[in-house]
Amino acid sequence: MALIVQKFGGTSVKDRSRIFNVARIVANTRNAGNEVVVVVSAQGDTTDDLIAKAAEITGNPSSREMDMLLATGEQISISLLAMALQEIGVSAVSLTGWQAGFVTDRAYSRARIKRLDTERVESELARNRVVVVAGFQGLNRSDDITTLGRGGSDTSAVALAAALHADRCQIFTDVEGVYTADPRKIPKATRLKEITFDEMLELASLGAQVLNNRSVELAKKYGVELEVLSSINPIPGTIVKEETKVEGMLIKGVAKDDNVAVISILGVPDVPGMSFKVFSLLAQRNINVDIILQSSGDAGKKDLIFTVPLGDAESAMAVLKEHRNRFGGGEITVNKDCAKVSVVGAGMQSHPGVASHMFEALGGQNINIHMISTSEIKISVIIDKADADRAVAAIHDAFIQ
Ligand code: ASP
Ligand code: MG
Repeated sequence: MALIVQKFGGTSVKDRSRIFNVARIVANTRNAGNEVVVVVSAQGDTTDDLIAKAAEITGNPSSREMDMLLATGEQISISLLAMALQEIGVSAVSLTGWQAGFVTDRAYSRARIKRLDTERVESELARNRVVVVAGFQGLNRSDDITTLGRGGSDTSAVALAAALHADRCQIFTDVEGVYTADPRKIPKATRLKEITFDEMLELASLGAQVLNNRSVELAKKYGVELEVLSSINPIPGTIVKEETKVEGMLIKGVAKDDNVAVISILGVPDVPGMSFKVFSLLAQRNINVDIILQSSGDAGKKDLIFTVPLGDAESAMAVLKEHRNRFGGGEITVNKDCAKVSVVGAGMQSHPGVASHMFEALGGQNINIHMISTSEIKISVIIDKADADRAVAAIHDAFIQ
């Protein structure tokens, strides 16, 4: 008997018929002789709707109350799915994140899982029940509800799979797997049979939006092989694992991330310790900095240019402006009309010319590059947001037949 964790995203449980569709998938897995733990997200746009409801009350809700509010979305899904399972004759029980043993740190709205006490889940499994767990939520040490950040149900599923030593972790979604580009935008995009954790991590954090990147980090850390597949179309999806067969596929994907802002600080004194002053301010506020460019010093001054997530741009600007005198008092600007486009592939490590091929594709479309960054398995460019879709199409054409 295998233990299988199955996670279903918001679109997969968005209404009555989708809930019964999920119930049948779970029932089939159960009836094939497996133990099943199910993790679900909030239905459809519920989380966005709840955020909008809060905005009707205040422009500045406390993060504790936001988590209290948002966690209700998943609670609706788990109870409805458990009822649907019972309705079709499957013994099932729903558990909130805290009932399922998720203990997190204090960071409301972006909590990290500290511990997972699986006793309750295991005892329910021992009673032959399908266990339906609310994703995205946990409890901190003050017994307050926390949430794991948008898209956090993937992370809940992987954490459960790791803690329970599950034999398989299936992430059901509204696409049929991981594609070489967003198939809604690039009709020629093809589905990948497999992809490595590292490639997936780059694609997820680059905005491929199939799997939440924290969930992939966790899967890599605990060696949880993931299967990404459709809840609607029962065909094999994409396997995400440590290593994939060398199949001569240089580039696994082209991704676009709209969620970036470029911040420039001009005239920073060109002396040791300045970058620390700037970036420690952002780190203290939990703001992730991605690409960093520093101009070569001129007359004892340099410019620091870097990207942050769009949603953090305002708070980054506020703290930088507040402390501007610590790093030269020069002009600080933000550009929110940009996007990051990247190619990813472990194969490029042993293959020269990928960057020039990418830049050739962009040049051919007359697209200007503002910033470039590279790692062993990816090349990213920051360009104007308006150019981003054309850029993805051109790069995809250049690399993937
Ligand atoms: N419902 C949450 C969200 O929309 C968590 C998730 O979907 O994974 O972000
Ligand atoms: Mg959702």
